[in-house]
Amino acid sequence: MKTYKILNNSSTDPNKILPIHYPWARVHYKTGVANNWVPEEIPMQGDIELWKRLKNGLTEDERRMILWNLGFFSTAESLTANNIVLAIYRHITNPECRQYLLRQAYEEAVHTETFIYCCDSLGLDADEVYNMYNTIPSIQKKDEFVVNITQNVLDPHFSTEGKENMQRFVHDLVGYYVIMEGIFFYAGFAMMLSLLRQSKMVGVGEQFQYILRDETVHLAFGADLINTIVEENPEIWTSDFQKKITDNIVAGVDLECEYAADALPKGIMGLRSDVIKKYLEYIANRRLTRIGLPEKFQNAENPFPWMNEMIDLKKEKNFFETRVTEYQGAGALKWE
Ligand code: MN
Ligand code: FE
Repeated sequence: MKTYKILNNSSTDPNKILPIHYPWARVHYKTGVANNWVPEEIPMQGDIELWKRLKNGLTEDERRMILWNLGFFSTAESLTANNIVLAIYRHITNPECRQYLLRQAYEEAVHTETFIYCCDSLGLDADEVYNMYNTIPSIQKKDEFVVNITQNVLDPHFSTEGKENMQRFVHDLVGYYVIMEGIFFYAGFAMMLSLLRQSKMVGVGEQFQYILRDETVHLAFGADLINTIVEENPEIWTSDFQKKITDNIVAGVDLECEYAADALPKGIMGLRSDVIKKYLEYIANRRLTRIGLPEKFQNAENPFPWMNEMIDLKKEKNFFETRVTEYQGAGALKWE
């Protein structure tokens, strides 16, 4: 029987990374490194020109959609970084998992930089954009939801000892990884990448594409972490607890649909909020099954099959014939 445990393991020496107990944590770390990028590599000249053009430029609806997504992501990235460093890192003492959390924290810093770069390039009003989490109710609700369902681990007296506390910890991990990174980012990804497919705001779109690729790995790490804790502590996975987690995910989908409808009140070419809702139901089913829970949404088929290809950057780079930046080692990647 396996005796080593990821949580509450007094024999873990956080400084002793070898031998590795959880190879998946290593794999995610290496994938993250292979995906390295920085926003300054992506030219913004075309975006600046299009954003400032008064005639035959973007429509009002397109502008609203872009602004809403910059508004949500600009603060959400820092929120994620803070959660990792201040809350999760403290409780996960396993060294290979910590190595990944450090990598993830760095990537969130790169994402935070991305929105500084977008704001600067487009000449946006930083006070307005960085305040949208207060002034736009559909954004505020998402942020409040995450803050509320991740309160346990932010409590400085919180410990993961005992069944109820382990449940609280897993509950909060689902809040961070599955809901925040796995659902609350995805209406934005679909909107911005749909615009990219029409060759509009290509620079911003490519940055969202790089972020999407990173977030796919964050989510995979989070799911593996959750599944490992549950596997090693099966007593926490009661039907009541499963129901609670499922309800949270469904509530997250509702808030994300509300956000999409607010960012995109009338719909633009090829994109309407009711179609985004279908997409969110489809990905929510995938998130649920990834952590061992049954699907919750009927007939949820993927209305945006192109989103899967968006994660594979090479293909899209050739398609748009923009500058190819290849950090990735050959054949290093597999997607969920
Ligand atoms: Mn991020
Ligand atoms: Fe992330």
